[in-house]
Parts: sequence; structure tokens; C-alpha cells
Amino acid sequence: MAMDKRQFLKTSGTLVAGSMLSHLMGDEQKGAGRTNWSGNYRYSTDRLHTPKSVAEVQQVVKSCDKLRALGTKHSFNGIADSRANQISLQHFDEMNIDPKARTVTVGAGVKYGQVAPYLYQHGYALHNLASLPHISVAGACATATHGSGNKNGNLATPVAAVEIVKADGEVVRLSRERDSDRFHGAVVGLGGLGVVTKTALNLQPAFDMRQVVYLNLSFDQLEHHLDEIFGSGYSVSLFTDWQNHRATQVWVKSRVMPGDNLAIPREFFGAKAATRKMHPIGDHPAENCTDQLGMPGPWYERLPHFKMNFTPSSGDELQTEYFVPREKGYEAILAVEKLRDHITPHLFVTEFRTIDADDLWMSTCYQRKAMTVHFTWKPEWAAVKQVLPMIEEQLAPFDARPHWAKLFTMKPARVQSTYAKLPEYRALLKEFDPTGKFRNEFLQANIYGV
Ligand SMILES: Cc1cc2nc3c(=O)[nH]c(=O)nc-3n(C[C@H](O)[C@H](O)[C@H](O)COP(=O)(O)OP(=O)(O)OC[C@H]3O[C@@H](n4cnc5c(N)ncnc54)[C@H](O)[C@@H]3O)c2cc1C
Repeated sequence: MAMDKRQFLKTSGTLVAGSMLSHLMGDEQKGAGRTNWSGNYRYSTDRLHTPKSVAEVQQVVKSCDKLRALGTKHSFNGIADSRANQISLQHFDEMNIDPKARTVTVGAGVKYGQVAPYLYQHGYALHNLASLPHISVAGACATATHGSGNKNGNLATPVAAVEIVKADGEVVRLSRERDSDRFHGAVVGLGGLGVVTKTALNLQPAFDMRQVVYLNLSFDQLEHHLDEIFGSGYSVSLFTDWQNHRATQVWVKSRVMPGDNLAIPREFFGAKAATRKMHPIGDHPAENCTDQLGMPGPWYERLPHFKMNFTPSSGDELQTEYFVPREKGYEAILAVEKLRDHITPHLFVTEFRTIDADDLWMSTCYQRKAMTVHFTWKPEWAAVKQVLPMIEEQLAPFDARPHWAKLFTMKPARVQSTYAKLPEYRALLKEFDPTGKFRNEFLQANIYGV
């Protein structure tokens, strides 16, 4: 087939850029069929750039018409995908503590599992962690990844400053102190504003924690005690299979001080203390999980559910999560419970958590204290995608927001209607990326689609 001039220029431009950039490409670009961590999503390009300096990032950004940043590949949908080029900052592994500012600045390749022990060694802590330490700080903040705790904001809330390479290759630094508006739009940036090269996080003094697991808590207890139950520890998670109107496990993670009474109360709102270590998914090996049974340890070895050097969760799985206003948490649980017999056959486990409200425009907790309803599904997408619209219909009266990095089927217009600052975020995208270099199909659909 003959090529017209436009097609020729487009193709030859790619080839020129390709040869100029070949030295910045990682090994992965050679293998076909690159997937995300769980293997449920196949990326649409084999072109992965792996620069080693900010200057090289600028060079990649300037040379590509289309580009998307990639973290540790733990998202379940196409949010990190590109049909043309991806860029990984895996070589950006610097970590610098500023004791005066009480911050740590981490390169975009740094994972929580790397920075957390480093901070503990130096007497510091982050306020919270996700269920696993394997993910990058940059990727987690970009999608408003969260842990749990009535008074804990998501993992993007301690961001004090961020450095981004914009579409034109310019390096921009935004800080909470100096740039309030653009900063609030950029931190949960969904990868759309550019390539984050480093992030500064606020620190607090190191602390120790312990976790205790309780078994079989009736949902009836949540009707009048939801806040109390989620507030009974620093970070609390409830797990369920949706059968028998009860949480199968309650994980209570508490801060401990020297001299605290470490006796374990045997009962918790009618649930009984576990006498052996548990995995949230009944038949999975508990050795993958962080220590339980009330044994004290560093904050970073208790806040995540899973240990760094072990497979988190199930491995071969799908995930979905919805954020509802916390005060409607119990009603939302009852609404989803009606679907239990559609859900349970395809489910590994559901988890409920709470997160504090924040002021980051595209955060799933923007100006809303949240409770989340999370699903770890078996790898049965054909069946799961039939169940998701049913769950979304049940949660519609609660203006549920789906997790940006997980699987959902909600119409874009519905997602957009829950974000008051969407017009401002779109304006920021236009300012940082006027030609849509970082706009992939996920952003096109969910931020601009109907
Ligand atoms: C087993 C498992 C457990 C999980 N547990 C939790 C949990 O407890 N809580 C929770 O909220 N989520 C959880 N998640 C979801 C996970 O936290 C998110 O998918 C998170 O975004 C993953 O980070 P990542 O580094 O893998 O980013 P990726 O998936 O690689 O990318 C995610 C987004 O970040 C952007 N991005 C990455 N790096 C940069 C950069 N340098 N500059 C600009 N943008 C960038 C990408 O473009 C993309 O939009 C879990 C996922 C798995 C697989």
C-alpha cells in the first residue's frame, strides 16, 4: 500500500527518534507481550525507555510524540499504558532525608519497601502504607493509593513537593507551600501532566506497631459502631466473603509505646481473637503476611498486610475498589450484600477500609472521608465484568468513586461527575501538555469521554 506524505513523515519521525533514543531503552523493550504485575493487562507497546538522569528524561520526552510513565506495573487497568512509548524511572533510586524540613526526597523509581527501612534506621516514619510495599512512591501518589485509618489520608497526602518534566521537556518544581492550586492538581496527576522525577514526603518520628486479628464480626455491629470499629486502631481493615452477614476477619493495627499493656483482649464487638497467624484469603499461606498476634515491630512491618520479599495478596488476581462517603458506609455494605451470590463465586476476598479526606483535586478522597469496598477477584474477567455494573448500580446512590488503578465499568460521565475540580484539572493538563503527549486511552476515556 502506498504511503501518503503525512504517514511517511510520521513513520520516519518515529524511526529517527527511535535511533536517537535506542541507548535509553531497557531490556524489556525487546520482549514481546509485556504485562502488568498480575498479568491481566498486556501493554500495547514494546518501546520502554529507561533513562538514568533528568537530562535523559528530558531528551526522551522531547523526542516522543506520545509517552506514558510506568511505575512498578501494579495497576490493573490501562492507566499506565501507551500505544507508542513508556518511560520507566527505575534507575532513579536516590533517597535524601532533610532533617530540618523533616522530609525525605525520593527518586521516582523508589519503592516503599526501599524507603521505609531507610527511614526507620534514621528514626523516621511515613504516616501510612498500602497493603503491599512493592509499589513505587511516584506510581502510588499518581493514583491516590491508600492504606487505612480514620485519621490517615492517602499516600499522596504527605507529598510536600514534586518535580515533573512537562511535555516540552521543561522541569517544573511544585511545592505545597508555594504553589497551592497547581500543586493540589498535580500530586494525584494520573500520569497526565508529565514524568515525575522526584517527590518530597513529609516525615514523622518513627513508631512501633502491633496487629491483632479477630474472627467473625457480625455486620450488625457496623450499624451503630462503624466509626468506633474503624477507629479502634491506627489502621483497621475488615475482610469478608459476603456470606453469613459477617466480616470473616478484622485486622487492628495499633501504635505501641514503651510500657503499654500488650495483653490481647479476647473479644472485639463479639468477634474472637485469632490464635494463629491468618492470611486474608482463607487458604493462602499466612507466612506471606506481616507479623500478627500482637507482636510489636517497626511501623513499616505492620502497616502493610504483606511482606516485601513474599508474593502479596494472591498474585493471579484482579482488583476493583469503590470509595463511598464514610457516614454511608454501612448502607453501602448492605446495598452490595444483596449481590452476595453473584459476587462470592468469583471472589478471593473483599476488604473494607477507611481513609481521611484531603484537598488533592483528583484524589478519590477529595473533600470526603471515605470507606472503601474492595474486591480481590479470581482471574475470571469474563464473569467479573458482568458483576461490576451490578455493584456500580448498587453504589450509584452513594456517588462512589472507583480506584483509578483498578478495574471498573462505570461510565466516564458518572466518574467525572464525582470530581468537583475536574475543569481545573483539565486546564492544568492543557497547561502542562497542550498536545496530549501524555494522554493515553485511559485518560481520553475517563477524563474527556462521556
Ligand atoms: C497486590 C496489590 C495490592 C494493592 N494494594 C493496594 C492498596 O492497599 N491500596 C491501594 O490504594 N492500591 C493498592 N494497589 C494498587 C496500586 O497501589 C496502584 O496500582 C499503584 O498505582 C501502583 O503503583 P505502580 O508504581 O505500580 O504504578 P503503575 O501501575 O506502574 O502506574 C500507575 C500510574 O502512575 C503513573 N506513574 C508511575 N510513575 C510515574 C512517574 N514517574 N511520573 C508520572 N506518572 C507516573 C502511571 O503513568 C500510571 O498512571 C494494589 C495493587 C496490587 C497489585
